[in-house]
Amino acid sequence: MNVLDGNALAGDLAEIFAVDVTAARFVCAGCGHADAVATLQLFGHAPASVGRCPECTDVVIRLVRADDRVFLDMRGTVRLELPMSGS
Ligand SMILES: [Zn+2]
Repeated sequence: MNVLDGNALAGDLAEIFAVDVTAARFVCAGCGHADAVATLQLFGHAPASVGRCPECTDVVIRLVRADDRVFLDMRGTVRLELPMSGS
């Protein structure tokens, strides 16, 4: 078995995170509701933004900005479905 480390994902992840993620569909880990990230209820209090499910209000995405980095907590979503142009 040939096992690679996470660096092997660099190309795929660079392509994915270059898209407008607000157009992606999330699936809420709390209730299974699926919709576009743009439909989340956003509670933004700098430096953090919290996106809650419009159906059950569970936290789907947390984004925290620090001086030199961004923390993205997505434990509230089962998955993101990203539309890719040209595929
Ligand atoms: Zn939900």
